[in-house]
Amino acid sequence: MKGEIITVGTELLLGQIVNTNACYLSEQLAGLGVDVYYTSTVGDNPKRLREVIALGWQRSDLIILTGGLGPTMDDLTRETLADFLGLELILDTSVLANLRCLFASRGRKMTRNNIKQAYFPAGAQVLPNPNGTAAGMMLEKEGRIMVLLPGPPFEMVPMFENEVIPRLEGLLVGHRQVIKSRILKLYGIGESYLETVLQPLLEKQENPTLATLAKKNEMHLRLTAKADLLEEAQGLLAEMETVIRHLVGQYIFAADEETMEGAVGRLLLEKGMTISVAESCTGGLIGHRLTQVPGSSAYFNYGVISYSNEAKQNLLRVDPRLILQYGAVSGQVAEAMAIGVRELGPTSLGLAVTGIAGPGGEGPDKPVGLVYVALATGNKTYLEKNNLRGPRQVVKNRASQVALNYVRRYLQGYLDG
Ligand code: ATP
Repeated sequence: MKGEIITVGTELLLGQIVNTNACYLSEQLAGLGVDVYYTSTVGDNPKRLREVIALGWQRSDLIILTGGLGPTMDDLTRETLADFLGLELILDTSVLANLRCLFASRGRKMTRNNIKQAYFPAGAQVLPNPNGTAAGMMLEKEGRIMVLLPGPPFEMVPMFENEVIPRLEGLLVGHRQVIKSRILKLYGIGESYLETVLQPLLEKQENPTLATLAKKNEMHLRLTAKADLLEEAQGLLAEMETVIRHLVGQYIFAADEETMEGAVGRLLLEKGMTISVAESCTGGLIGHRLTQVPGSSAYFNYGVISYSNEAKQNLLRVDPRLILQYGAVSGQVAEAMAIGVRELGPTSLGLAVTGIAGPGGEGPDKPVGLVYVALATGNKTYLEKNNLRGPRQVVKNRASQVALNYVRRYLQGYLDG
């Protein structure tokens, strides 16, 4: 089954609201095994809306429209669709009675324009809306299924889940496939290198398909499999994942919903270890990210934001001579900070970051973006020098990512490899 989504609303075209409906419906239809080849957005203009509906009619089996079911003059979706299909709009008296009750229960006066929300194209099934005044509708004509849903997500989502999915599942029985995706998240590998390594897989991809996506601070690989049964699709994904892990496993830090900080937390828990952090240029960002994860109190001990030289000396016992000789942004000071924060209390790992976030503050051999990450484990202190690019906020973000990834690599045994 080929599906198409049409979101209606001038606000969407003006960029005043984010089109979360298209995103939500695309994901849901993929889960139902419906191939979505097109989504379009059109303003509250009957001529252009009609053109988009006509296109959808030619190329899709299932067309879902959201928005424009309201009572006002610019809400034209029902009228335009009925006109396109040559169907009369008929008053549904039970919907009208419901509307009257709804207004009465809220103590509000029902105006004449609300009555149009009780009109539906002949033959349409009414989809009740317990969260608003705009009932939805679904109709089948000449082998196509048309679904009209209200625009507000808190009305549209429950209606889709409670009214549309059960009806679609009934229609899809027998000729339905499952589409399942898996996202592998990588850090420390460039897009072009990743593509080169995966070239053979990318070239002969069929099922699962494979795509590389460059995200803020990380790379994603999206694997999508199609099969008759969920287990089959999962099997195909697992097979391809094994091949990918064999090629670039050391860069993969998480999958699907998991974040970098979530992955670090999971690994610390698995090993029964705790961590404390000493942060300079990241200003507490690493501590913030680690504590974003529910349950992080099981492994996160404390964080010190040691921004000034005095704080490094007084709180972390960094030798002032090290700062004088090598500077606050140096491998020597990063290591001393990591050891210092670890020795403050019982904690398995001490992580430290010192760097130049910019703009300004650079020295002759210390450019903006120079960031040292050190990890003290008790047996050994590991150190990494990074040259990060970007404006201040980007450098801070990347520094937090580099540091968390460093811990992840240590916990997975890659630092000694
Ligand atoms: P109602 O009459 O129940 O308000 P409607 O069907 O007439 O709904 P619209 O008037 O098109 O819907 O949109 C109402 C609101 O719904 C918008 O102001 C916006 O907040 C939200 N909305 C509409 N379309 C989308 C969309 N595609 N994605 C996210 N939000 C949307």
